Amino acid sequence: MNGDLTDLYQEVILDHSKSPRNFGAAEEATHTARGNNPLCGDRVAVYLTLEDDVISDAHFDGRGCAISVASASMMTEMVKGKTVAEAESLFEQFHALVTGEEDAKEDDGLDELASLAGVRAFPTRIKCATLAWHAMQAAIHNDNSEDVRTE
Ligand code: ZN
Repeated sequence: MNGDLTDLYQEVILDHSKSPRNFGAAEEATHTARGNNPLCGDRVAVYLTLEDDVISDAHFDGRGCAISVASASMMTEMVKGKTVAEAESLFEQFHALVTGEEDAKEDDGLDELASLAGVRAFPTRIKCATLAWHAMQAAIHNDNSEDVRTE
């Protein structure tokens, strides 16, 4: 990865962490879940509105490091309008990217999520990057009984 690309990625992450999209509790949400990353202190709540198997709306709130907030912000933008299956498949792709199993490719649909690929070099930050996604998945399955632990 060359320097310019790294700078661009950092800009994307900073932009999302400073101005998170879809931030705030959504009272009309049909599916919610909380995520907690005690290693870093990140806490996130995800609010999804499901119409049949389509995620028609997605919000989040909480607080945490720039990586966790940026990833949550991107997650809400990217799962909106997707089916549950598409959202879960996107999470699988994203998980493979940040754990280093896969490199980002053109046309893989990850778009801005590719900016988070750098966390693969920092195992503790992988949990920051995937926290909101684990919460999204828990919300879909309405597993709201306890905090989600990221792995
Ligand atoms: Zn974090």
